[in-house]
Amino acid sequence: MLCEVCGEAEALHRCSMCGRLVCPRHFDRGRGICTFCVQALCQVCGRMLSITHCAVCGRLVCLDCSVQVNTVIHVCSKCHEALGGREAVLTYLRERKKPPRMPGIRAFVERVLRASKRDRVSNCF
Ligand SMILES: [Zn+2]
Ligand SMILES: [Zn+2]
Ligand SMILES: [Zn+2]
Ligand SMILES: [Zn+2]
Repeated sequence: MLCEVCGEAEALHRCSMCGRLVCPRHFDRGRGICTFCVQALCQVCGRMLSITHCAVCGRLVCLDCSVQVNTVIHVCSKCHEALGGREAVLTYLRERKKPPRMPGIRAFVERVLRASKRDRVSNCF
């Protein structure tokens, strides 16, 4: 039986998460899972496979460690806790989207004008 990751070395271990048979090089002995699963592991608890990214810190999070703040946004439980709840997370994300002060107020105003023009056009339809 060959490793299901590299297809070269002999598979000596079975991943306890996905069930793949893998060689020692593609197996994480400590956790008993293959390298594929290590990469997909929740970066908060490190025990379950992740299902999404945290919108605040970008970490991979599993179902247990994620908090859904609206229909499309998930954050990790750590950020949810650190920011102080759902509303605070949404406010934070909104604030972060604002353009940085660096390019100067002129660029910012231009962007706003362009955006509002676009809105007006789309409102016509
Ligand atoms: Zn291998
Ligand atoms: Zn696996
Ligand atoms: Zn987790
Ligand atoms: Zn986070």
